[in-house]
Parts: sequence; structure tokens; C-alpha cells
Amino acid sequence: MTITKTIERALYAGAQAFTKLSYPLSWERLEIDENKSLWASYTPDYQANPSLNKTITADLAIIGGGYTGVSTAYNFIRRYPNKSVVLLEAKTLGNGASGRNGGMMLNWVYGMGDMTDSQTQQIYAHTHRTIDNILESIDEHNLDVSVRRDGCLEIFTDEQRANAAREEIVYLNQLGIPVQFLEKDEAQQKLNLTGIYGALFDPSEGQLNGAQYTRAMKPVLQSLGVQVYENTRVTKIDEGAKHDIHTPNGMVKADALMLATNGYTGKLGYFRKDYFPLHSHVFSTAPLTDAQASSIGWQCSAGFSDDLNRISYATRTNEGHIVFGGGSNKSYDYLFNSRTAYNRNIDSAIVDMGRTMEHYLPGSKHLPISHRWTGTLAISIRRNCSIGVRGQHKNVYYALGYSGHGVTAANMAGEVITDLYSNNLDPWQDMSFVNADFGKIPLEPFRWLGYQMVTRITGKSPREPHR
Ligand SMILES: Cc1cc2nc3c(=O)[nH]c(=O)nc-3n(C[C@H](O)[C@H](O)[C@H](O)COP(=O)(O)OP(=O)(O)OC[C@H]3O[C@@H](n4cnc5c(N)ncnc54)[C@H](O)[C@@H]3O)c2cc1C
Repeated sequence: MTITKTIERALYAGAQAFTKLSYPLSWERLEIDENKSLWASYTPDYQANPSLNKTITADLAIIGGGYTGVSTAYNFIRRYPNKSVVLLEAKTLGNGASGRNGGMMLNWVYGMGDMTDSQTQQIYAHTHRTIDNILESIDEHNLDVSVRRDGCLEIFTDEQRANAAREEIVYLNQLGIPVQFLEKDEAQQKLNLTGIYGALFDPSEGQLNGAQYTRAMKPVLQSLGVQVYENTRVTKIDEGAKHDIHTPNGMVKADALMLATNGYTGKLGYFRKDYFPLHSHVFSTAPLTDAQASSIGWQCSAGFSDDLNRISYATRTNEGHIVFGGGSNKSYDYLFNSRTAYNRNIDSAIVDMGRTMEHYLPGSKHLPISHRWTGTLAISIRRNCSIGVRGQHKNVYYALGYSGHGVTAANMAGEVITDLYSNNLDPWQDMSFVNADFGKIPLEPFRWLGYQMVTRITGKSPREPHR
């Protein structure tokens, strides 16, 4: 067992005990800041829909317009074209993590724990198919979305972990999963990263501009009959056989509701002790020509992530920017009382992150930065996500907690939710994320203190692989 795993298990046990001692602080409220990401800058003409200003009814009301909300609306309305679906978004589609992330479109679902051979095959097949579906929807609806699928690398910065990965890949190949182990030299032909001992290469992974994708999907959803209200914050939910979903100037009376609010979900009174909102910083370089990218060692492939607990991840966009996230303790932050908007200066975090990028790609030192931003994601103590249904009337659907691995998983969530609604659990019955428990995380002041402690202890530790 790794040191990180041991520490995490001890913290898990401690957290369960402290949870009983902590209480919600009354001044907590939903804060949503503006999306200043590179991804959003590629949607300059985006027009938000008007907010809801009356009382309406719906078969399904979806709260949140990121990947989870959009994929739920898309899957649901195609299966149930005659049902009424309303999507309520506090700001604009893609304003949350979906429009602010690192863009890595990856296979697997994080935090699934030990899996059987069959579960391993199934989860890879599910996520692989989800990436296919995303690309198909872009083609089918002729969406103006920057996407690439030329593979991502998971790099190993330690010989032992590289050797373990080499063995694991033999096993995965035996299961028919076509990932490849690249020796150091082979990996460096794709991406000339220093300090690596090899890499796992998955040619079916890629990169997606999530602000473009979620926003481009709006007319598609509307043409299928989904009503989309933006700048419409849900302030209160009165649960029942029929829910009353309150917004500042209107209300939805809905037979079923879907919480697609990930890192913001606690502010609606749900899952408050199950996850915490983590703020994660990212920056992008100005666009590089292929020759410039190649001169710093970026030959090909959509991106890479490393094997450390403060994971570094980077992708290169079709427009030539390198997007870099993580890579230092300062690149992740938790704000006291689970605040959901980041109001602090990130200059020193960006400097630290730039040093990490320079460590991997020494030629990147003087690259001009085009954008810097922060996004909020839900992290549970076991790093697992949960997709399911709850409530006295079994009509409150939800999907959240994908850690930093939600681009594909949140797009898959819409399919899982539609199957749950249809009582067709067959495709997902072996998947541990269905109605999964999250371990409990205490509220304040223990939550903030715990975060500070864990960050310091595990700052340089390796992380568990996401398989
Ligand atoms: C910086 C960063 C980097 C990441 N990098 C990657 C990566 O490279 N690869 C990867 O796979 N994953 C990555 N992730 C994770 C991934 O982006 C998320 O898991 C995924 O986008 C979650 O999608 P979502 O739709 O559930 O949540 P979100 O995209 O956060 O959407 C939730 C929406 O709900 C809305 N909302 C909240 N409360 C209310 C309310 N009361 N009323 C109405 N609307 C409300 C919000 O405004 C928001 O638009 C990253 C995340 C971050 C933050």
C-alpha cells in the first residue's frame, strides 16, 4: 500500500468521526463567478437565454448547464421526445468546471476502487463509447467545437511506477484494452518531457473545448424541445411527488429533478458532507505555431498528465495554445466554509505552475501567457463519483464528484441517468458509481483544517492511478 493510500485511509477514518461534531454554518451561500478561461474566449458571440420569469411545469427539471446537465438533457429528450424538459442554469451554459477545465477527454472513471476483469473492460468500453458519442454529436449537428482525438499520455516520474505500469498494461492488453506502454524514448518522440521513465499512451483519448461544446449544444437541445433558461439560479427546492423548484422570478413544478451542479451542489442543501468544492487554477500560453511547439518538445498528441498527487496536466489546442493546470500545492485551494467562487490573487500559484511546466518542458520558460483562470470541482474523500437517484419518491436524480476526471464521465452521466429513469440498470449494474456512497467529510472548522493538513502531508506524494 502506498504512503498516500495509508494517509488517506487514516484521514478517512478521522473524517467520519469528526463529521458528527461539525454543523453547517448559516452564512454559506452560492457564489458563481465569471468564466475567464481560454475555452470561453472562443465563444465571444455567445448569447445567454432569458431567465425564467413565470411558473411552468415539466416532466424533468435539470439544474446546471455543464456537461452533466447538457448530457442529461440530450440523452433524455432523445429517449423521451414527448416529455417536457427544462434546464435551469445560474449563469450561462459552460460557466462552471465544464468550461474551465484542462480539456483532457480521458477514458476511465476516477475512484472506482478495485475492479474485476469484467468491470475493467466495461468501464473502459463505456468511457470509450462516450468519447465516440461526443465526436458523433459534433459531426451530426455540425457544431463549431475545437476537439482532437490523437491520444493522451500518462507519464511516470519514477522508475518503480513506470515498471508497475508496464506490467499493468500487459494485463489491460490481455483484456482487449488497447493502451500502450511507451518507453522513455518513444514517449519523448511524442512529447519531449524531462524527468520521465515511460508513459501510458491511449490513442483514443483527446481534448475538448467544453465552453464551446456545451454552448453549441444549446440550439440542438432546443430543437429537440428542451427549454433552456440561463441566468436562472435555483434558490430553493421543495421536494415531493412533484417538486417546486424556486428561482428568483419564477418556479418549475416538476415530476423529477436532476442535480447537475457538481461543486455547487451543497448550496442547494444536498450532499453537503459528501464532497468539498476544490478550486483549481489553470493557465494557457499564447498560440504557438507547430514549429514553435515542436521546438519546445511538443511534437504530437493532445496532452499529458503526471503521476503525482498534485497532478500536472497539459493539453495543446487546435489553435496552438498549451493549457497547463495543477503541478503545485498552490495550484489547488479550498476556501473556508466551502465557498464556490475564487476571489484571491493567483499570481504566485501561476508562477509555481509555470516552474513545473518548465521542469517538464524546459523550452517553455518564456512563453507568453494568454489566459489564467480558476474552476471549481467536487472532490469526495474517496475521490469517487456517484450517479443515482434518491428522495422519498425516488425522483431526485444526481451525478457529481468526478474529481479532475469528469470530461468524459459527466458526458456519460446523462446516459446513466436516462437509463435509471427508464429502470434499465442492465448496462450499469456492475458499475460501483451507481448510487455510490461517498465517505463523509466534516464541515467547518474541521474541513478547512483537514484540507490544510492533507495538502501539506501529501503535497509531493504519488497519486493512485485512475484505473
Ligand atoms: C480547473 C479544472 C480542470 C479540470 N481538468 C479536467 C480535465 O482535464 N479532464 C477531465 O476529465 N476533467 C477535468 N476537470 C473536471 C471536469 O471539468 C468536471 O468534472 C466536469 O466538468 C463537471 O461537469 P458538471 O456539469 O457536473 O459541473 P459544472 O460544469 O461545474 O456545471 C455545474 C453548473 O451548475 C450551475 N449551477 C450551480 N448551482 C446552481 C443553481 N443553484 N441553480 C442553477 N444552476 C446552478 C453552475 O453555474 C454550473 O454551470 C477539471 C475541473 C476543473 C475545475
